[in-house]
Amino acid sequence: MKLNQTKALYCKILFLSLCSLTLSCSWDRFVLSRVNESTAVKAKVAKELFDKDKITIVLTGTGSPLPSESIQNSTAIFVNGQFLLFDAGDGVAMAMEKLNLPVSEISAVFITHFHSDHFADLGEVIDRSWLLGRQKPLTVHGPKGITDLVNGFLKSYQSEYYYRTKHHGEAVMPSQWKGAKTNEFAPKSDGSSKIVYEKDGVVVHAFFVNHVPVEPAVGYKIEYKGKSIVISGDTADSEFLKKQSFGVDYLISEVMNKSMIAKVEKAYESIDHDRFRKIMKDIQLYHIDATELGNLAEEAKVKTLVLTHMIPFVKGYIQTKAIYKDPIKKVYHGDLIIAHDGKRIEIPLP
Ligand SMILES: [Zn+2]
Ligand SMILES: [Zn+2]
Repeated sequence: MKLNQTKALYCKILFLSLCSLTLSCSWDRFVLSRVNESTAVKAKVAKELFDKDKITIVLTGTGSPLPSESIQNSTAIFVNGQFLLFDAGDGVAMAMEKLNLPVSEISAVFITHFHSDHFADLGEVIDRSWLLGRQKPLTVHGPKGITDLVNGFLKSYQSEYYYRTKHHGEAVMPSQWKGAKTNEFAPKSDGSSKIVYEKDGVVVHAFFVNHVPVEPAVGYKIEYKGKSIVISGDTADSEFLKKQSFGVDYLISEVMNKSMIAKVEKAYESIDHDRFRKIMKDIQLYHIDATELGNLAEEAKVKTLVLTHMIPFVKGYIQTKAIYKDPIKKVYHGDLIIAHDGKRIEIPLP
């Protein structure tokens, strides 16, 4: 090789090495900035949510069993430093992480009933909170059947728990905190409420709702410092729900536009699709219609009504207004919020 060629080769090698070093340094800087940024965002969100001067509701999932763009049903409530999760429908574990919620700090989970759109992701909620650093026991509260449900998840996650601790070690993944315990309760059949959770002034009551043939099915009422929030769970129009919602600050309720579902039923009938026609007919029996809900909220003097678990799922101002807002506002004069996934509601405390 001639001297000039050798020099050129050395120059090329030097140039490529410098490029690779520069690229590697810029990747290092990029990764470090992303890690710093994501850590800072998580810390900021946790600080906001655990602010004891307010209660924060996060609508973590507003969907239903019918296909939609929403995560299935779930609502998080942050109150007096506690993170309470009501229902855990499909997709909620990952949705909470995308929203930067402090998943490892979850204090308790409450399940309303045993339709899968309310518990499908419970195994993931239990597991992810532990993987992300939960160092305290987690209790899942629910009506009769909750222990069987949770034990089923724990059994199916046995290998997952074992491998995580084996790989990362007891110090990082302490087996002591894997899984969850349960608090199984029997709601009162007369519609009165029962305290199922009480901690540092935060009280959660459970009460019977009408989602026959799903029994038991419950709603929850959360109280703290004179503020009250009711979560309906799934229910038909119900005197129990009305009684429990009387004068509450927020009623977070499921809702169905039955005339729309009746049209879907009719459409399936017209194409002789008897299976879907029957399902569309049946589901109208155990959900609450938009007008029924508006009347219930008006009669119960609910201050703010929040719609979630909307059937059918619609998006866009015009459709949402026609299908939910208009029928409800015709009869209900309080505030109305039509929720979407990730919606935050803040309630200042006295
Ligand atoms: Zn449901
Ligand atoms: Zn249901």
